[in-house]
Amino acid sequence: MVMAIMGAGPAGIITGLNLLKEGHNAVVYDRFGENAWKHAKCSGILSEKALKEFQKIVPLKHIKTQTRLNVWFGNKKVEITPKQHAYVIDRHELDRLLVEKFISSGGKLIHKNITPQDVIHFSKQANPYIIGADGPVSTVAQTFNFPRFTHIFKTGQIFLDMPEDYDDSVNLFLDCKGLFGWSFPKKDKLEVGIATEKNPSKELKKLLKRLNLKYTNSPTYHIIPLGPRKKFAKTDNNTQIFLVGDAAGHVKPTTGGGLFHSLIASNILTHTILNNNTPEYYEDMWRKKQGLNFSTMRLINRTINFIPDSLYPLAGSVFETFKMNKFLAEKGDMEDTRFLNIHNLIDFIL
Ligand SMILES: Cc1cc2nc3c(=O)[nH]c(=O)nc-3n(C[C@H](O)[C@H](O)[C@H](O)COP(=O)(O)OP(=O)(O)OC[C@H]3O[C@@H](n4cnc5c(N)ncnc54)[C@H](O)[C@@H]3O)c2cc1C
Repeated sequence: MVMAIMGAGPAGIITGLNLLKEGHNAVVYDRFGENAWKHAKCSGILSEKALKEFQKIVPLKHIKTQTRLNVWFGNKKVEITPKQHAYVIDRHELDRLLVEKFISSGGKLIHKNITPQDVIHFSKQANPYIIGADGPVSTVAQTFNFPRFTHIFKTGQIFLDMPEDYDDSVNLFLDCKGLFGWSFPKKDKLEVGIATEKNPSKELKKLLKRLNLKYTNSPTYHIIPLGPRKKFAKTDNNTQIFLVGDAAGHVKPTTGGGLFHSLIASNILTHTILNNNTPEYYEDMWRKKQGLNFSTMRLINRTINFIPDSLYPLAGSVFETFKMNKFLAEKGDMEDTRFLNIHNLIDFIL
């Protein structure tokens, strides 16, 4: 069986590790080869659940525990002190540890920029499996005409010298039309970022001005797909094609976090392959497990974006009056919206 995995990010490497563990050959191709980890653009925020899952694979340490979140509805700040803490990791460290483990377990990582011609070449081999773990601008998805993402936001991210009086919280600025703007201390730097449907450079400038901060280096830009493609796995002639991670859109529409969901999708994918199931089965399994969760997250994202700019402070006051910040702090789950149920609400009210 030829199993070609495109992309050495977490989705590709975890899939490769899972296959190796079960005695299969796994070959990963990445345009940056063993240095793929150096190019990851990410804030490195993980829920406790996510951190624990990654720690089952590699000895990943967190660099910070985040205990307080300030959500800014325009100029109205609402504080959330969640029971479940968030953790900041060094994303480069995570990817490096994964790649090292993959290679030391016998996996092959080939330095190659994959083109559509290469993908077609793989598809002509006997009984081929092609795994597109090549991020949001997926060559595999383009080659096999997978539907485009319906929602994709542009990100701008910058690391600045830490201002002296900066407090330790994570700040989320909701009124950016897209996902949100953010700022939080990371090691000795302050990370400021924006994920927006508008011009990320302009929006980042606006956010820095609002925070009274100045550029000291250049921002980096990237994209975040919010939620899955309409289709992310199929059989084309004899070729079984599976998209996973950002390539498929396995990214939370509430926060743009994709690490934990890449891991979950990689596990569903390997289970599918090891049991000789079809790409359609893989997509079906993912939708059964995550479909409702992701649709609810997308609804939350749309509701926030629907608020007119001038009404954000009012929305913040309503949010606080109905003690939604306390509810989120007590019952919230960063990965799963199923905590939004009547049982939890009654429990909280009583
Ligand atoms: C600004 C920003 C902040 C984020 N913050 C967080 C966060 O705090 N927490 C969180 O959970 N998630 C966060 N994310 C999302 C997270 O980074 C992604 O969900 C995650 O990287 C997805 O992993 P992946 O393996 O699917 O794709 P990627 O990490 O993008 O890996 C894809 C790999 O494919 C390779 N590749 C692409 N095209 C080709 C080609 N043609 N040929 C060969 N190789 C190719 C690339 O080199 C890369 O190594 C953030 C994203 C952004 C943009």
